[in-house]
Amino acid sequence: MHIDARTLPNGSVLEADLCIVGAGAAGISMALEWIGSRHKVLLLEGGGLDYETAMQDLYRGESVGLPYYPLQAARLHYFGGTTGHWAGFCSTLDPIDFEKREWVPHSGWPIRREQLDPFYARAQPLLELGPYEYGADDWQRRDPTLVPLPLDPRVMWTKIWQFSPPTRFGARYRAAVIAAPNVHLYTHANVCELVANESLQSIEGLRVRTLDGKEHRARARYYVLACCSIQNARLLLASNRRTPAGLGNAYDLVGRFFMEHIEIPTGNLALAPSHAAHTKMYALEFGRTKARGELALSAAVQREQRILNATVSLEPGGPDEVAQSTFQWGTPDRLAAMRERDAHGDAGPPAEPPPARAPLFFHLMTRQEQAPNPASRVLLSPERDALDMPRAKLDWRLTALDRRSFRAFYEVMGRELGRRGAGRVRLLDWVTRDEDPWPSTLSGGWHHMGTTRMHENPRLGVVDANCRVHGLGNLYVAGASVYPTGGAANPTLTLVAVSLRLSDHLKRTLA
Ligand SMILES: Cc1cc2nc3c(=O)[nH]c(=O)nc-3n(C[C@H](O)[C@H](O)[C@H](O)COP(=O)(O)OP(=O)(O)OC[C@H]3O[C@@H](n4cnc5c(N)ncnc54)[C@H](O)[C@@H]3O)c2cc1C
Repeated sequence: MHIDARTLPNGSVLEADLCIVGAGAAGISMALEWIGSRHKVLLLEGGGLDYETAMQDLYRGESVGLPYYPLQAARLHYFGGTTGHWAGFCSTLDPIDFEKREWVPHSGWPIRREQLDPFYARAQPLLELGPYEYGADDWQRRDPTLVPLPLDPRVMWTKIWQFSPPTRFGARYRAAVIAAPNVHLYTHANVCELVANESLQSIEGLRVRTLDGKEHRARARYYVLACCSIQNARLLLASNRRTPAGLGNAYDLVGRFFMEHIEIPTGNLALAPSHAAHTKMYALEFGRTKARGELALSAAVQREQRILNATVSLEPGGPDEVAQSTFQWGTPDRLAAMRERDAHGDAGPPAEPPPARAPLFFHLMTRQEQAPNPASRVLLSPERDALDMPRAKLDWRLTALDRRSFRAFYEVMGRELGRRGAGRVRLLDWVTRDEDPWPSTLSGGWHHMGTTRMHENPRLGVVDANCRVHGLGNLYVAGASVYPTGGAANPTLTLVAVSLRLSDHLKRTLA
């Protein structure tokens, strides 16, 4: 059922068993799970069914840290949320991403990767992905011409990514949501405040406002915030009527630990022509399901080097770049010079004789995990939006560990590819200069994570392992804002899996 909140009489009261705030990837994935259940579900979406400029303006905000995309462009504010312009790159987090790593302060999830596996498998069809298979060997079994690079698995491995069409949740699931008699979708229904009871132990209602000046109230037994990482934090911080720091914020954690994936060109690879057959697996797509391999370091090497997780894609260079490549295997003098450099820790020499043909040339694009950092955060700006809500202010910050990890990753990768005779890696200059500012090519992946992090201890996290806000009996959070660490994989597959897990938990709770 679909109702435009602007058509309701002012002061309407909406009631249900479960109220989901936000109809993006997380909110719609959850709502679909409840279709046909005996429970009434409210799905409150701030935007309309399609893009509207005035709605999108509610997302405008300040950015005061490292250069970042304009906040109103980095997310979408209508039914379907930011899946209206996501790119569809999907992969799973690795088991090491869930571990407490003593060299990564604040790392460690209260759940393990195996606990998410069944939910990852359920998330695959929602995102219109292929089978739940992310091993290079799974894909090679299906197509023997897909041959991963011959890397020592103790050092490096091929991480598989799959590509969603990309699923636009708004278009793909609109009909199913609207046809569901027990799911009541309200559009133009912006939640501006969560109202807690006097003892601050539960939520007793939500203030819902429309741009044409109406104000309604929503009441439910359980509430789920699924508004995306920046909005989830903004809404909790702005719900400060009874407690000045905002709800769920007894330990000043809401909005902190904002994380991105650091996406940045980092180097080049000249792949030996004898390895040309391997490039198919790393090309943009293969097989019936679009997928590709990227290069990653083993968990053992991450531990040994005390670095963050990352993966690297191979973006083919043009023929002229091959001609200009300074890596070509050449004269004995050049090889001797390379060996000299290798003795000082640079990439290792090719084990094979220099090939006669020019190497295949690739740009290396890194997606690296960002170290969780309490100083990297979402705050409230003094400026207010058209609904009188304080706008979001983003202070994105990185640490020395983020920087050092790039260099260590590429040094290991260069040595491994050189040792195997697979190719040679050249780092871009900035990578080797740890002390310099980040280069102008620094960017995030448009992935917002971490502002309501998960931890069993309320002093260290905003939500518990079931995504319930500590201290509030009936308030939950869905989406990447609950990630304590973000790994190197893009966030959406995991956030859908985590939302399905939350949905199962709420079904048991409401049973
Ligand atoms: C250009 C771009 C490319 C991307 N590419 C990828 C990719 O390749 N792979 C990947 O994994 N991820 C990608 N992402 C990220 C991906 O889009 C997000 O991870 C995902 O959409 C987040 O889902 P969500 O449900 O948490 O938030 P959203 O999808 O943003 O949904 C939040 C919903 O809440 C609503 N809402 C907000 N505030 C309120 C309120 N106060 N009241 C009511 N409703 C509200 C919004 O209107 C929206 O519908 C990309 C993002 C961008 C911008």
